[in-house]
Amino acid sequence: MEKPAICGGKPACSAPVQYGKQYIDDADIHAVTEVLKSDFLTCGPQIPALEKKFCEITGAKYAVAVSNGTAALHCACLAADIGPGDEVITTPITFAASANCVSYCGAKPVFADIDPETYNIDPGAVEACITEKTKAVIPVHYTGQAVAYDEIASICKKHGLILIQDAAHAIGTRYKGSPIGSLGDMTCFSSHPVKTVTSGEGGVITTNDEGLYKKLLLARSHGITRDRSLMAHPSDDPWYYEMVSLGYNYRLTDMQAALLSSQLDKLSVFSARRKDIVARYDEAFRRVDGIIVQKEIPESDTTRHLYILQLDPEVLTCSRRRFFDAMNAENIHCQVHYIPVYLLPYYQKLGYPAGLCPKAERLYERIISIPLYYSLTDEQVEEVISAVRKICAYYHK
Ligand SMILES: *Cc1c(COP(=O)(O)O)cnc(C)c1O
Repeated sequence: MEKPAICGGKPACSAPVQYGKQYIDDADIHAVTEVLKSDFLTCGPQIPALEKKFCEITGAKYAVAVSNGTAALHCACLAADIGPGDEVITTPITFAASANCVSYCGAKPVFADIDPETYNIDPGAVEACITEKTKAVIPVHYTGQAVAYDEIASICKKHGLILIQDAAHAIGTRYKGSPIGSLGDMTCFSSHPVKTVTSGEGGVITTNDEGLYKKLLLARSHGITRDRSLMAHPSDDPWYYEMVSLGYNYRLTDMQAALLSSQLDKLSVFSARRKDIVARYDEAFRRVDGIIVQKEIPESDTTRHLYILQLDPEVLTCSRRRFFDAMNAENIHCQVHYIPVYLLPYYQKLGYPAGLCPKAERLYERIISIPLYYSLTDEQVEEVISAVRKICAYYHK
């Protein structure tokens, strides 16, 4: 049997491979440098141009570009009028920001457990968490795979709840043929460098509702408006503006907007490559004893942001930590997405009990994210597969 590198064997990869990485080409560099030579570094023409392109890609009526995905979620919560006394239901298997946006508003995040096969929030668990205080639901399209959208949307409709999707992983994904971003009240995207398209930092909210759109614009820029229809005391004075609500400075710069526009031109290419890698991984890992592959629902045509291996403790003798270290020794730098949010010390201090979502906690103990990004070569993909095969065979019961 071939020895894993952690036991003195030869590493599968000659150079380190990360779990995620951006891809920047000359067109991206050109787009940014053109803005640097122009008159506007912020509040310029790149912002509406990006928003228009985002609407074309997602099929949404309105798009609002903001400084990052967390700001997108915060703006969506502000536009939904979420405040003290409200509860908002989300998943624990997500980045902290999906819950923090609720906490920023003085409201309470409530965690509904996941489906142990798709790893997405379970609609039945969402319904069970609803109280008279529930105001909204924030499902996360985890790894890029669409949630059971129709089921969640009908629960929201039945109980009069606002549906805010965290689509930080899901640009390019379609649900029953509709692009993520075209459905629901508001959808929030991130363009952090590990995500499918990047602007360094950046975020976008899409909506089909004009009222929400106007509130998102206010939240992005100090609550200040030049829209007479929103003013308390409309005036003809050319310098006149009003601050009508308490907003923030969550604006994106024109350099970032130009970069994101240029990246969006490559979305279908990025998406195709990610699908190819996922297909190869799925095919290989379905045949590896000790590995459980994430279930895909037929409704989701997925552009995957993350590829997750679930380790089967019934088959493997090594711990997840040992597996992680073994991959590291193979020169493959993995991650774990995510520690259940309510187990983070901030939320623990607020009194969320361990054991709250047992399926999420069990999944967390077993998962590891392996490399998935556009520029990962076929050779690297095969090296990752052989590393996993080697480690699983070595630590087989
Ligand atoms: C990345 C991410 C965010 C936050 O986006 P930023 O742009 O980093 O602020 C929110 N939710 C999820 C699920 C994410 O992966």
